[in-house]
Amino acid sequence: MSRLESTVDRSRSKALQERAERYFPGGVNSPVRAFRAVGGAPPFVARAEGAWLTDADGNRYIDYFGSWGPMILGHAFAPVVEAIERAARNSASFGASTVAEAELAERVQACYPALEKMRFVSSGTEATMSAIRLARAATNRKMIVKFEGCYHGHADGLLVKAGSGVATFGIPGSAGVPEEIAQLTLALPYNDLEAVEAAFAVHRGAIAAVILEPVVGNAGCIAPAEGYLEGLRALTAREGALLIVDEVMTGFRVALGGACERYKIEPDLVTLGKIVGGGLPVGVFGGKLRFMDLLAPLGPVYQAGTLSGNPLAMAAGLATVSHLQEHAGTVYPHLEATAKAMFEGVAAEAAKAGVAMTLNRVGSMGTWFFTPGPVRNYAEAATSDTERFGRFHRAMLDRGVWLPPSQFEAAFVSAAHGEAEVRATIEAAREALRA
Ligand SMILES: *Cc1c(COP(=O)(O)O)cnc(C)c1O
Repeated sequence: MSRLESTVDRSRSKALQERAERYFPGGVNSPVRAFRAVGGAPPFVARAEGAWLTDADGNRYIDYFGSWGPMILGHAFAPVVEAIERAARNSASFGASTVAEAELAERVQACYPALEKMRFVSSGTEATMSAIRLARAATNRKMIVKFEGCYHGHADGLLVKAGSGVATFGIPGSAGVPEEIAQLTLALPYNDLEAVEAAFAVHRGAIAAVILEPVVGNAGCIAPAEGYLEGLRALTAREGALLIVDEVMTGFRVALGGACERYKIEPDLVTLGKIVGGGLPVGVFGGKLRFMDLLAPLGPVYQAGTLSGNPLAMAAGLATVSHLQEHAGTVYPHLEATAKAMFEGVAAEAAKAGVAMTLNRVGSMGTWFFTPGPVRNYAEAATSDTERFGRFHRAMLDRGVWLPPSQFEAAFVSAAHGEAEVRATIEAAREALRA
């Protein structure tokens, strides 16, 4: 038996994957789902409840990727399911305004006071793309600073040295992005203020915005160094550039008010996604009035969407955000305690097994890097033994634990994870790290 082969019966998933490959490149509608980075065949999901996924063959897994972030309350969370059902009975879409949009906006703003005004879109990609257009219009400048290993969706200018699948597959950018567009993006090392200072010195008056993941999730989890976020705020303010805090992953995750609350950042624009849609497609961009009022129909910056503010998506988002807001005092401490026990428990097993591992964790997101570390930027994350990670991933999957299928993706704990899941995960890791 090859090391890629599993002892678990996933024959139905395998057949479904072969069928999917006839219709979709790689059999998938988003690249990292194909498991190319870890090897083995991706299970097809039949259903999920709470912290548990069930595949097409009836195998069950503890879920640590949570639909890549959104499912912070666990799967099929009853209030979310009921909200979607209720909304669906009134029709799935109108293309006209409904009360749910302002209701969700009101709650989002209560958590993110920096969003003086906002707009709903249908994905994180749309949110960051629109925020950048706005920043360029507001400053009449063209260049953007981003950081290596940060992922902000798949818009042309943001794929330069990006994280997530771009990092997973080791490609520096993407074919199909014109050089002229890529040249407008400066990709700098994360957690390095001097690099940003130098870029502003070289490109004085040309940089429209600095966009970042305030806690990186898309190169694996990397926390901002002490003083880094404050430094970026001060530099961008001094240079007349906007600070765009991309909280698509960290929003409602690292705190109710995201990284903005956790690290007391004062951004010009913020982007949200994932959790804010409760599992349905929602993105948000928003910020200071003087920037947001540049948007059509008030101003000259065009941005639109047929399904923006979709009633089902608003309903799922509203149910999720309401629950988080009303139970923040219990949900976030539970997430912190569960994540701490789980991530540290697995890291302790690695130490016992003599496996070099660096654990980075912020709240309920974290990554075990297979490197002695430390990991403070993408270059350091890239020193990880990805083959070793792949082996760990496959061994965990066979023991009923589904981790994100790449060394360069953060794992998430949900509010539905508890002591039983933590114990089972650590036990699985004890064996998997010796496999
Ligand atoms: C997931 C993600 C995006 C892209 O969101 P999509 O909904 O996948 O388009 C953008 N920024 C960050 C930080 C993300 O994690």
